[in-house]
Amino acid sequence: MLILDGKIAAAAVKATLLEQTQALKAAGKRTPHLAAILVGSNGASETYVASKVKNCEETGFGSSLYRLDADVEEAVLLAKIAELNQDPNCDGILVQLPLPKHIKESKVIEAIHPAKDVDGFHPVNVGRLVQGLNTFIPATPYGIILMLEHFNIETKGKNAVVIGRSNIVGRPMSILLSSNIAQGNCTVTICHSHTKNLKEVCLGADIIVAALGVPNFLTGDMIKPGVVIIDVGITRVDDPTAKKGFRIKGDVNYEEACAKASAITPVPGGVGLMTIAGLLKNTMKAYQGL
Ligand code: NAD
Repeated sequence: MLILDGKIAAAAVKATLLEQTQALKAAGKRTPHLAAILVGSNGASETYVASKVKNCEETGFGSSLYRLDADVEEAVLLAKIAELNQDPNCDGILVQLPLPKHIKESKVIEAIHPAKDVDGFHPVNVGRLVQGLNTFIPATPYGIILMLEHFNIETKGKNAVVIGRSNIVGRPMSILLSSNIAQGNCTVTICHSHTKNLKEVCLGADIIVAALGVPNFLTGDMIKPGVVIIDVGITRVDDPTAKKGFRIKGDVNYEEACAKASAITPVPGGVGLMTIAGLLKNTMKAYQGL
């Protein structure tokens, strides 16, 4: 069984990006710059943003982190985005989600200029993705595609099941896997909270992407031998024996799945690292011009 190690695949992506930024520096040019906006101080969001900034540094990118109070007015956030949209030294803008309830997420996403929308959430970029046009692919599905590419996982003609239909993971993932691209051409079934025969659907899958946020949801009896499992789930589960008081759990029962799968992503150390790789690739793309 093959462990789809995110450390290995992400390192390969980052090494190529580092070569590119080193070449830019050697030519006296500026390197790509990512601006991250964090509203409030949610623990998981803090961790994600810190990791994105650190990865920018490691690959020779510039980065800025703008912190806004949890009770900041929506207009202030929109003004910051408008300022960054105009800034010629800022290539990519990301607003860490989720946002506090009083801020309308869709309004914020639509405020980011599509050419700087490195998360790929703007409706213009989603439309481009659906039509198979050049775009920013949302970082997590993009990272998964990069992972499949790195480990030469054959997808053509396979039955793929995506569990979860969110705008950031499940839905774009289902579109990519069904697209006519190297890591696509699957027959895709997308499952969600109203799916009735999920176990039967999963048992017919050659590839399963679990992105629902329910720890240990996908168990050994729901999968067939040889399946490729991509576990997107990241849930903090309380554990007093852990140093931080919690452990990160995926959506897949890892031990049971390992007994049957031909390949599987670990959690942590799998998709999460690839998400950052996808984000960095998008930022380089924004720098180069979509
Ligand atoms: P979400 O809550 O927006 O969407 C969850 C989806 O799962 C929904 O479409 C829902 O219909 C479906 N669902 C929920 N319960 C279900 C059930 N019992 N059966 C079938 N479908 C069910 O979540 P999201 O933002 O897409 O994130 C999903 C998980 O992935 C979370 O654990 C999140 O933390 C994680 N995540 C990880 C990364 C990463 O980089 N690894 C990135 C984004 C999200």
